Amino acid sequence: MTKLRGKTRDGLESTRRDVVALGIAVAAIIMFVGTGSAVIPQIVRQWTTGTTNGPDIVLTNALLLNIALIIFGWRRYRELRAEIDTRREAEERARELAEIDPLTGCHNRRSATHETDRAIARAQRESKAIAFIMVDLDNFKQVNDLNGHQVGDDVLVRAAERMSALLPRDAILARLGGDEFAVVYPYERNSPDHVEQFVSRLIDSVAAPMAVQGQQIEITMSIGVASGLSGRHGERSEVDAQMLMHQADIAMYHAKRQGKNRYYWFEETMENELRFRNQLETGIRLGIEKGEFIPHYEQQVDINTGHLMGFEMLARWNSPRLGMVSPEIFIPVAEEIGVISELSEGLMRQAFSDAKEWDPSLTISVNISPVQLRDPWFSQKILKLLLECNFPPQRLDIEITESCLHENVGVVRSMITSLKNQGVKISLDDFGTGYSSLAQLRSLPFDRIKIDRSFVSELKEADANSQIVAAIIALGAGLDMPITAEGIEDNTILETLKAMGEMKGQGYLYGRPECAAEVRKRLAREGLLIVVPEIVDELVHENAAVEAVIKSA
Ligand code: C2E
Ligand code: CA
Ligand code: CA
Repeated sequence: MTKLRGKTRDGLESTRRDVVALGIAVAAIIMFVGTGSAVIPQIVRQWTTGTTNGPDIVLTNALLLNIALIIFGWRRYRELRAEIDTRREAEERARELAEIDPLTGCHNRRSATHETDRAIARAQRESKAIAFIMVDLDNFKQVNDLNGHQVGDDVLVRAAERMSALLPRDAILARLGGDEFAVVYPYERNSPDHVEQFVSRLIDSVAAPMAVQGQQIEITMSIGVASGLSGRHGERSEVDAQMLMHQADIAMYHAKRQGKNRYYWFEETMENELRFRNQLETGIRLGIEKGEFIPHYEQQVDINTGHLMGFEMLARWNSPRLGMVSPEIFIPVAEEIGVISELSEGLMRQAFSDAKEWDPSLTISVNISPVQLRDPWFSQKILKLLLECNFPPQRLDIEITESCLHENVGVVRSMITSLKNQGVKISLDDFGTGYSSLAQLRSLPFDRIKIDRSFVSELKEADANSQIVAAIIALGAGLDMPITAEGIEDNTILETLKAMGEMKGQGYLYGRPECAAEVRKRLAREGLLIVVPEIVDELVHENAAVEAVIKSA
């Protein structure tokens, strides 16, 4: 700070000196003209006529003094020029530092806003539109983690170079931070397809493998495009850089959620989606704390005898704001925000406690997300939980989906083995919807295969094609793995399945998933509850109340 102030004072001082020097030089020139006009003719005359009468000595001295002053003034002027040039260069450098991203040489976030506003104004004058193209590299963190930051930096530079090579003259490329870039792209209003072609070229060009420091790196991008319209058409509203950035960002996140490596135009509905998503995220975190997640139970039955064998635990969220929410909505979000293990453990704890009143022959199946299986301590955590809840491992059945097998079969195998050693059963859920190979199936010691309900529901028609179901049943028999059929909705399906062999089944035909209290009543009716006196009392009361209502009617 003092240094800065010192510099300012120096600057003021030299400016003041410059003004004085300029004044002196101007005065000297005026005087030079005055004295010179008197003295120079006298000198010339002395030279040409050879007279000894020299010029006036005082005037000559004044003239020499003037010349000295003019030289002084001139030198000062040159110094001043040099100083101005240095300052201009420094200012230019400072501006660059403030506006240019040092790694990639693109505009930075700050100048991107300014440049976008300028581009919008220019486009309006030329009756064009602006597409703000928000680009985010997919899984860039992994590139950094696996190969180091130096390689990560090189990937960013290469991606920027490839995008920059495709830019038309009047487009701008900026790095907004991290692995996020933006392209400001002017286009003819009626030709959004030009934008789409350009975006596709961007995606293709960056996706080509890069050789970086001896590594072969492939990177994809998610892109959101905004032009102030809803979608690629619609009414144009007043746009500014902030708004376009905001909308393109929302569209980019939409592209991420839809599976990455793609682009979307901004749509107004996405904004609601995002709001809902934020509500979900905060709601889930809070809901876990407050115990809003509760287990429901779906019956699993021996289809031939009709005997109840156990239940599949299905999570439900009774959100005070959103009401009952399906796991198909909140499970993926819980996975993404990293709370799935916590959520799942809480549900299992409740389920083990609920099941303590049930007949000990009844099993509990729980769904385990692929994210949980990535935790190297997963099997230990489950065993610890069983111990804490004093729940027999033999009554627990863990359902994992085929998608878990793509990640790391080795890890999954050792996890399955250590759980099985303790008596826990493992089922392969939703079989037929993933792509597990026969070799994988054979090498993994599953206890059971569950046929996905999409295949089972095909048996609805009496003359339905049952080949896939038959093939899975045959496969199960060959691998010595019993079968559970999910999604048995009616008697036609049930009868077809019965004719195909022995298996467990579940589905709406046997009833919808029920909460713990309803399950208790069901089990009490069927004599499958470990007798707890107050439950019997409760049921007697309830029956009496119902009878009273019927009588009064
Ligand atoms: P899933 O494991 O395939 O569970 C069966 C789903 O099918 C359940 O939906 C169930 O209500 C539904 N269902 C049962 N019978 C029938 C039927 O006859 N017809 C039809 N159309 N559907 C039937 P739900 O409860 O909505 O669960 C959806 C998915 O959410 C589950 O699919 C499971 O993958 C996941 N999920 C549920 N709870 C948990 C959990 O605690 N953890 C994890 N990781 N995933 C869970
Ligand atoms: Ca399941
Ligand atoms: Ca299933």
